[in-house]
Amino acid sequence: MTITETGLPLFILGRDTDPHSERGVDCPGELPPASDPTLVERARVAKERLGDRLFVLGHHYQRDEVIQFADVTGDSFKLAREAAARPEAEYIVFCGVHFMAESADILTGDTQKVVLPDLAAGCSMADMATFNQVEDCWDALEDAGIADRVVPITYMNSSADIKAFCGRHGGAVCTSSNAKRALDWAFEQGEKVLFLPDQHLGRNTAVLEMGLSLDDCVVYNPHRPNGGLTREQLENAKMILWKGHCSVHGRFSAACVDEVRARIPGVNVLVHPECRHEVVTKADFVGSTEYIIRMLEEAPAGSSWAVGTELNLVRRLANRFPDKTITFLDRTVCYCSTMNRIDLPHLVWALESLADGEVVNQITVDADTTHWAKVALDRMLALP
Ligand code: SF4
Repeated sequence: MTITETGLPLFILGRDTDPHSERGVDCPGELPPASDPTLVERARVAKERLGDRLFVLGHHYQRDEVIQFADVTGDSFKLAREAAARPEAEYIVFCGVHFMAESADILTGDTQKVVLPDLAAGCSMADMATFNQVEDCWDALEDAGIADRVVPITYMNSSADIKAFCGRHGGAVCTSSNAKRALDWAFEQGEKVLFLPDQHLGRNTAVLEMGLSLDDCVVYNPHRPNGGLTREQLENAKMILWKGHCSVHGRFSAACVDEVRARIPGVNVLVHPECRHEVVTKADFVGSTEYIIRMLEEAPAGSSWAVGTELNLVRRLANRFPDKTITFLDRTVCYCSTMNRIDLPHLVWALESLADGEVVNQITVDADTTHWAKVALDRMLALP
């Protein structure tokens, strides 16, 4: 095992587990080999056997081989709500990552079981903010005498206990679609915001949509004493950004934008707000995954687009709209490695196990965490 610079262990695929993060890689049972030519048929038959008792959710960043079996596709929040709207489904199979399955468990009924086909499908961004680190941060804000003026807001892409932390401390959850509305609300409740765990979404929303300056933002580094910030910096800041990022969207650089503009004259650059500030400021359009899909659906034939989001989605959109030039913003191929861990063998294994009456890889959130996470989610749902 290797320790990465964030302090997280890096596991070889298929071995070991990490009790300190949401990742696990054990697969109890026999996985069919990826080379099995009957996998598609096996998935179809297992789905048919389960009928209405099963509802399969597919996140936009999933592989094509998996997405073909999704009853509905969407971003994490849309999928959690879709699950909640299907009380008749006994099994919710979530083709996405761990924090999404947790949100589905929080929002669905007690009798519904949420299954993640591969427990190794975590999210590196969610792992960058652990509960103990966030508690330490809050202690530092209390020591600095500002905690009672800070409202914690967490991005949907965080573990259930971070959502619950925000619920307990008067805060809320946000998505990339409603981050501005969540920040507007937070600044009505307090003077400052602690934004978890994605510094880029927090900074981009505060500076580009709310008119704050970069000087209003500080970055809290959980690996340094007091986050590496002085009392004065904390006192002066309006946005305290957690030092976390998405490993996929964080890879796009300003040079990628310059390069694609030189290569494709007239190209429209369309990026997700999880991208770095210098990328977002150079782009033509910025928005959530659902916004990106809508933009490309509505784009005129013959137009050109360079898209800065996960590659599975960009490829799917390029295939769907052959009358438009749709290219990946970076020349280097980059999938979300954890999303990609849900593959056909894991899906077949999960579906066949359920059809045989065995619930595997169930994701459950304890009652107290569910209560407070739901408080934070409900505050988001009540946003104007
Ligand atoms: S794309 Fe980024 S935020 Fe989404 S699951 Fe992958 S690492 Fe996490």
